[in-house]
Amino acid sequence: MSTVWFTPATADTPEHCQKSMRTLLHAAGAATAFRRGDLVAIKVHVGETAKRPFLGRELAAVAAREAASAGAHPFFTDTCVLYKSRRDDAVNHVTLAHEHGYSIEEAGAPFIVADGLRGTDEELISVPACGPHPVAVAGMARRADFFVVLAHATGHLGTGFGGVMKSLGMGLSSRKGKLSMHSVSKPFIRKSTCIACGECAKWCPADAITVAAVASIDVAACTGCGECLAMCRVGAVGFDWKASSASLQERIADHALAVVSGRQDRFLHVSIALRVTKDCDCLDDPGPPLFPDIGILASQDPVAVDQATLDLIRDRTGRPLPAWSYPQIDPTHQLARGEAIGLGSRSYLLTTVA
Ligand code: SF4
Ligand code: SF4
Repeated sequence: MSTVWFTPATADTPEHCQKSMRTLLHAAGAATAFRRGDLVAIKVHVGETAKRPFLGRELAAVAAREAASAGAHPFFTDTCVLYKSRRDDAVNHVTLAHEHGYSIEEAGAPFIVADGLRGTDEELISVPACGPHPVAVAGMARRADFFVVLAHATGHLGTGFGGVMKSLGMGLSSRKGKLSMHSVSKPFIRKSTCIACGECAKWCPADAITVAAVASIDVAACTGCGECLAMCRVGAVGFDWKASSASLQERIADHALAVVSGRQDRFLHVSIALRVTKDCDCLDDPGPPLFPDIGILASQDPVAVDQATLDLIRDRTGRPLPAWSYPQIDPTHQLARGEAIGLGSRSYLLTTVA
């Protein structure tokens, strides 16, 4: 059974929230885990163009300060995304990170992209539990001395829940790794709904969409990134969620295991259940908070901390997360797969700290 530390918090009181974060990191053993001279990667999500996750930078800055005070060298990190975005190459991503305050001046550490200039700096990791093919993860994901993975808990249109496992598996894989995860999911066009506005084609990173009387998708070229689904404002893009989400979630768990494989004790996973939205921070507007803030959780076990987050959401709000966000998606496939391949345990002891 794994230990998950929890501190109640609300983003309404930022200073108290930062204090709670510090308390949580100490309770979870971060202060003694950071070693003098360590390169400490703090995995963050810098947000999209117009908005950034509320308090994300402030909580990341707390982790950076804790690492620096132990004599370690912290830096913020994330990987490039597959779709058209200001995070689709390292130059764009670093520029956006600085605009959103992930900088030495504002948050106490530099931002460094984990998978190189164009998302191809990677390591291929063989993990027997995940099958015969090696798994492609970001090069830096295997080279930092210690990782603090900060995940904003949200709903997600592909996996139902975006938490620590998704931040690890999708967020620290290379472009090749992301493609292999997404390749199982292919969208389709509802012809009677499509108004031929062309928005989906404009954003499709694979140029897989052509628009004439209605849009149509070249399934062979489609990488399954889901961008068209997010961009279509009339609901004309569909996914067979039941068929594709389970596979996507399982592949995310496999990539998460590849990232931590052989050095689980060099990771601390933090789940931020504040301002939980229907969609993840990749969207320009992820929507309003679904329910009142819950708090922050931490564990060395990524499966346990995600399970505990979902359990707290259900217990505190009276409804499971899918009932608030995407009812058609069961987000627990990732947890079941993570437990089956040895990434972590769904059984945990919740220890509350204040
Ligand atoms: S068709 Fe949609 S899911 Fe496929 S690559 Fe293009 S944007 Fe992504
Ligand atoms: S964004 Fe939606 S409505 Fe517009 S062309 Fe694409 S599928 Fe059709």
